[in-house]
Amino acid sequence: MRFFVAMVSHETNTFSPISTDRGQFEARGLHYGGELLEAYRDTGTCLGGMLDGAAAAGVTLVPSLAAAASPAGRVAKDFYADVRARLLADLRAAGPLDGVLLDLHGAMVVDGLDDGEGDLLRAVRATVGATPIAVTLDFHANVTAAMVESATLLHGYKTYPHVDMDARGREAALRLAEVAGGRRRPTVAFRQPPLLPPIAGQATTRGPMRRLYDLADAMERRAGVLTVSVFAGFPLADIRDAGLSIYVATDGDQALADALADELAAAAWALRREFLHTALPVPEAVARALALDGRPVVLADIADNTGGGAAGDTTTILRELLRVGARSATVACLWDPAAVRACVEAGVGATVSLSVGGRVDPSHGAPLAVSGRVRTLSDGRFVHRGPMCRGLEGRLGTTAVLDVNDVKVILISHRWQTLDPEMIRFVGIDPPGEKILVVKSSVHYRAAFEPIARAILEVDAPGLSSSNLGRFAFANVRRPIFPLDEL
Ligand SMILES: [Zn+2]
Repeated sequence: MRFFVAMVSHETNTFSPISTDRGQFEARGLHYGGELLEAYRDTGTCLGGMLDGAAAAGVTLVPSLAAAASPAGRVAKDFYADVRARLLADLRAAGPLDGVLLDLHGAMVVDGLDDGEGDLLRAVRATVGATPIAVTLDFHANVTAAMVESATLLHGYKTYPHVDMDARGREAALRLAEVAGGRRRPTVAFRQPPLLPPIAGQATTRGPMRRLYDLADAMERRAGVLTVSVFAGFPLADIRDAGLSIYVATDGDQALADALADELAAAAWALRREFLHTALPVPEAVARALALDGRPVVLADIADNTGGGAAGDTTTILRELLRVGARSATVACLWDPAAVRACVEAGVGATVSLSVGGRVDPSHGAPLAVSGRVRTLSDGRFVHRGPMCRGLEGRLGTTAVLDVNDVKVILISHRWQTLDPEMIRFVGIDPPGEKILVVKSSVHYRAAFEPIARAILEVDAPGLSSSNLGRFAFANVRRPIFPLDEL
């Protein structure tokens, strides 16, 4: 068998002022043809799992392109048009295909086009006719009817932190081989209860999403059920279809798919209040961290998570650490290419005075004037070693560590979520040796930081990935929807 394979991945925060253009994709990862296979083979990613599953099923892959950028504002129209045209041209040139494997995110919003993946999947369907299409989607996908109707099977990640990406990729490849071989005939059901869960309430290790996935996992073990996904959705994409959704695929049994989807939708609705989330105010969080015995204490800056489209340059927690004279603290990481350049010009060991952060999104805090010593400089390349993205190379761009009275600020040039202690270790700081680690991440950091943390405190600082949805001016999401509206 021959399967076409491609990846297009972006999680779009429509409240972000940072436009996602070609440069953002080039910084993160843009691969064509066989490069795709080299970049993702044996990595803990969806594509890594797809390559593995295809090999296990004896499938030959026809690689097209892989394009991913750090979450931010809407994707530039011209870049999306290029990627779409190239993918469709590759598809037409691919020769006879038995299936199409796509690794998509599901919450991509393009300039002038709210449902990015729906548009792409419709175009792929129109190109390949009846050929089966299997798609992996992020746990944060805002799934639309267009995606459901255009794909043969959708496979959502079942974990947040996303530690099952490779398993889902592998599953998608194996299921597609079964469908292409005529051994499965998917019938699907899709439900969108009026629910917009905030990000910090979506973890699958505990809470409402754990309970929903316990239910979904039990359903998936039943005879005749192919796959069950509960998508928590990405609330900061202000589009009609943002929010939680349910997808059930059965083998030729529409009534069963409908019944299971209805049961899950009702369960999600019953759990709605458990998604609501509160975190500590900044001064209280810092005071508590300093008072705790043992180390390290992780202060999770959940509202400035670049993985949720926030700037990654807010300074509120750093400002408080300096105000109270904290020591043995590391802020990982602050996105500020201009500050990095100033550190490079000064050189390692030099003392510099400059302002850091607060450049992108002034509504969430101002730049902070600091004086410190340039501790290290690096090219920002590291390899993920935690449970997420294992084996994948990370690129932070030129990176500087500025030491301000033993508060060490890791300044990076490319936005990247702090989901791996390796991002601290590779610049010469020992994470377990620090008293305080400020980590800009909503939930993903937990997979790799929980095992080393003495305690974790979630902080309610300002930022574009805040889980306090009342702070955002929603205009397009379907209403009424909980918790924006009381239903
Ligand atoms: Zn996600």
